Amino acid sequence: MKIRVLFVDDDRSLLDRFVRLFRHDFEVMTADSAGKALELIKKNENIACMVVDLRMGEMNGIDFLYEIKRLKPFVSRIMLTGFPDMEAAVNAVNHGKILAFLQKPVKKEKLKKIIEEGISNYYYLKDLEDKSVKDSLTNLYNHNSIKEKLNHEVRRAGRYGFPLSVIMIDIDHFKNINDTYGHPFGDGVLIKIAGILKNNTRMVDSVGRYGGEEFLVILPEVEMEATYAVMQRIMEKMNLENWGEKDLAVTLSAGIAVYAGEDPETLIKLADEKLYLAKRNGRNRIEG
Ligand code: GH3
Ligand code: MG
Ligand code: MG
Repeated sequence: MKIRVLFVDDDRSLLDRFVRLFRHDFEVMTADSAGKALELIKKNENIACMVVDLRMGEMNGIDFLYEIKRLKPFVSRIMLTGFPDMEAAVNAVNHGKILAFLQKPVKKEKLKKIIEEGISNYYYLKDLEDKSVKDSLTNLYNHNSIKEKLNHEVRRAGRYGFPLSVIMIDIDHFKNINDTYGHPFGDGVLIKIAGILKNNTRMVDSVGRYGGEEFLVILPEVEMEATYAVMQRIMEKMNLENWGEKDLAVTLSAGIAVYAGEDPETLIKLADEKLYLAKRNGRNRIEG
């Protein structure tokens, strides 16, 4: 997949020229107004860099860059201008936090170099963010970030009266699996389970590794019945999974709690109590 670069200029012929110049290097996107560019930015993930004209009718380039920085702070911003203007340059740097301020006409090679620098900054920041929110083994949200997600979702559910459910999941007898097949094999099981959880939940759901072999799933706008069905499907997928050892069946126990105005900690505690009920009632089961 080519890296996305967005060019924003009210001069259509200049945009066409950028397409011709860079279509072999990047996935070039264009917008001939700030409004259209904002639409594209909201709809398309992975725009790594933007090249923006200073003056564009309805919204000036600096206000526009400021807005982009608020929406997508990691996207690298390059400003192009036909009118060298000290005040504009200062504003672009101070408010738009741009990577470079270039004057038209600009040579292809020079622009390409700066865009490449912008792209590399973008991926560096994305990678840092990823490492700070994700668990490195399973690539799920780590303990802190799944708790933060829950805080956010509880606030939203409280404010708008949306339903919200959480599932606390724990692998059954995982210690035996480690003891029998080794710790690296156990790691592989954790990775497979993370995949099952991700593949059987929606984009709007959040899946985190809450502890060693414990997972927390947050399902916004879902009540008990639908949450139960999601967890049942996960258990079915666990049954079908090939773990790589003929005699091994890995099972989960799960506790569901549905939000009814409590704070996030209490909601987790409720799900945890249900999980322990599932363990006490024989494991490989759901309580809610
Ligand atoms: P129960 O059914 O009651 O949950 O039993 P259990 O054996 O799953 O629970 P217990 O809490 O006794 O053991 C959890 C085990 O999970 C112990 C620990 O070594 C293992 N574990 C935790 N994190 C990791 C990890 O990252 N990799 C591997 N391989 N094992 C882990
Ligand atoms: Mg446990
Ligand atoms: Mg366990």
